[in-house]
Amino acid sequence: MKIAICEFRQESNAFNPIPADFGFFELGGIHEGQVFHDALHGKQVAVGGMLDVLEKAGVEPIMLFSMHADSGGPVKDAVVRKFIEKTMTMLKKELPLDGLLVSMHGATQSESIEDVCGFILEALREQVGPGTLISASFDLHANITDKIHRNADFICGYQTYPHVDFFETGARAAGILLDTLNGKIHAKTYRTVIPMIVPASSYTTLRGSFGALADYAQKQVAKGRILDYTIFQMQPWLDVELGGTCVVTIGEDEDEAKACATDFAQKLFGMRDNFRQDLYQIDEVIRKAEKNQSGKPVILVDSSDSPNAGACGDSPAVLERIKALGSNVRAAFYIKDTPAVKELWNRGIGSVNRIRLGATMSHEFYRPVEIEVEVLSLHNGVFTAEGPAGRGTPHDCGRVVTVRWNNVDIVICEAISYPGDLQLYRHFGVEPTFYDLVIVKACTSFRVAYEPIASDICETDTPGTAPINLGLLRFKRLPRYFYPFSDISGYEIPEPVALR
Ligand SMILES: [Zn+2]
Repeated sequence: MKIAICEFRQESNAFNPIPADFGFFELGGIHEGQVFHDALHGKQVAVGGMLDVLEKAGVEPIMLFSMHADSGGPVKDAVVRKFIEKTMTMLKKELPLDGLLVSMHGATQSESIEDVCGFILEALREQVGPGTLISASFDLHANITDKIHRNADFICGYQTYPHVDFFETGARAAGILLDTLNGKIHAKTYRTVIPMIVPASSYTTLRGSFGALADYAQKQVAKGRILDYTIFQMQPWLDVELGGTCVVTIGEDEDEAKACATDFAQKLFGMRDNFRQDLYQIDEVIRKAEKNQSGKPVILVDSSDSPNAGACGDSPAVLERIKALGSNVRAAFYIKDTPAVKELWNRGIGSVNRIRLGATMSHEFYRPVEIEVEVLSLHNGVFTAEGPAGRGTPHDCGRVVTVRWNNVDIVICEAISYPGDLQLYRHFGVEPTFYDLVIVKACTSFRVAYEPIASDICETDTPGTAPINLGLLRFKRLPRYFYPFSDISGYEIPEPVALR
């Protein structure tokens, strides 16, 4: 049985002014053939799950090409072209294939293509022909378009948020592919769409109505009504003409698969107003932390500047408020500022420097903060995630300098990677549990790691390119009939369809 694997993963934020270029993908990882295999084999990532399933079935996969990057601005067109050219060259030598596994994010825009994943899948489909099965894995925040659906036989996304099932999702995509090739199942992928986006910080599968929906959906799989499902909440910082939140089911029984997809979509639609959030103001959280006697830190969630949401990670807004308030709060903070790293690196450990920190990339929402810092340590920024999500995976923050300003310890990175992981502090000598206030630039991903160590988690109204208040963003392409910008209460969930 001939099965190949390739990967293209990046989550785009249309409001981030810095395009994701080749160098940005090099920081994430560009691999081919055996190196691609060895880099991800046994790791808690989608390709790791795919490899595990194939290995157990005695299938030796053909490893093609992989490019992945952290979230960021829209991808350079040349990067997409490079991926397609390279993958096609390798793919042509292996045809015909029985199956192709593709690991993607699903919310990826380039300079000129608003549906990069659909574009890539269409190219792959053209190359392998209609007879080869394509099974693809995605993030829960993917924008699953018609083009994706038309070209992939099976679509499996993360079912958890915070995402803790990267590996399992890859395994599901590979399992359904193998079972189909072995003639054990005859299933199709059904999908229905809701014109809706909600802030990514306002829901989780750990609890609440979205959590209950995930449990309910899981039960329908357990009952055997469907083989698989994903409830995709399109990430809200895409600006695309064709988009939406959607529900996907994979099933052998068409009526059941359609009924489940409609049911899940109706439930999701019905809970849309539950995703509105009360937010803290920055000053309120600082004051709360000053009084914090719990021995555990208050977490200020700066999700508007979350690199996972494709924001720049360069907002010093919280430092600005600590300075303005004259607060002596013991705080831990991280930020991306390449020029500051360069300058402080040259000055060396122990040096005291007046710097302008932050706002090096995004100028629309905040200004640099001027502070006097002492350099504490210098690092090469490679760390290993402690997880639980993605435990053991390597991440690269470029060069990293830690500094102290008053009672605030700051990790300054050339690139922020994996912002919801405690090692982004710990690896660089800043132990979050020693502080009264810890700033985290992430949406919901950080919760599995941070909830056990936090006294309080405060979703905060901060400025940035990934704000919780979506009304702050200037969408240009998104259709007008779209929640929360329009009242869509009369919307009827369309009948789910299979496009292959
Ligand atoms: Zn996601």
